[in-house]
Amino acid sequence: MRSVRKIANMTTDFNGKVIKKYLCEGCGNEVTVIRAKMLFGPKKGEWFEGKKGCDCEVYEIVRKEQEQAKAARLKRIFDENSLINPALKEATFENFEPNEFGQALQKAKRYVEEFDLGKPKNLFFQGSFGTGKSHLSFSIAKALQEKGYSTIFISTPKLLTKIRTTYGKSEMNEEQIINALADADLVVFDDIGAEGEISGWPIQKLFEVIDQRAGKHNIYTTNLSSSEFEVSKDLRRIFSRMMMDAEPIIMNGTDFRKKQFLKKVKENV
Ligand SMILES: [Zn+2]
Repeated sequence: MRSVRKIANMTTDFNGKVIKKYLCEGCGNEVTVIRAKMLFGPKKGEWFEGKKGCDCEVYEIVRKEQEQAKAARLKRIFDENSLINPALKEATFENFEPNEFGQALQKAKRYVEEFDLGKPKNLFFQGSFGTGKSHLSFSIAKALQEKGYSTIFISTPKLLTKIRTTYGKSEMNEEQIINALADADLVVFDDIGAEGEISGWPIQKLFEVIDQRAGKHNIYTTNLSSSEFEVSKDLRRIFSRMMMDAEPIIMNGTDFRKKQFLKKVKENV
């Protein structure tokens, strides 16, 4: 902060009569209040009072700049590493509509409020297709990013495609994503099981990725029922990791998109 102080003193460097000195509560500096005459400008000759030594304004500028830089960094982590279906990108708590899942919405909001890096907790959204599990998880990731946490949202089928297509090739992007997944404060693994694979190298890789997130905050969503996770050893291992320190949120119901569509059809008859 030494260079900052130097700039502050330069901008307030003037000579005059010292009226008082005090310690600023904001920056801790000794501040000198001076009374002096304007030497130039339209108010030339007029008396004014000025403070010398207080760096509060400069610290405030630096603080704001650091805050903006942090927000930009968190957004970049999210944008560069997330794998998202375009339909989800506008999802927020405010535009979550299925009111039969009001309780799920409340739990999701509470997760954001109570988020604490020292107390890792997982959410496990399980239920039928199109009930808003991804919508709520995406909203959580975005809300936490706004609160200053690094978050990443992963469509698990897309991650597996990436792992499969870059396997053996030294593609930076996959490695970058997997490293970022290990570091993030929260990772959402959306739509686990939707890729239809029950075993093999990509599923084992997925297990590794999930396993290295143990002891951190994670959110999982799946359409698979608990018994469907029993069909292979690899899926069973993933299921058991997902259950660790997890609060289940069950969302079974009508496909919301289908309901919207049928409503539109009815209106147009
Ligand atoms: Zn000050």
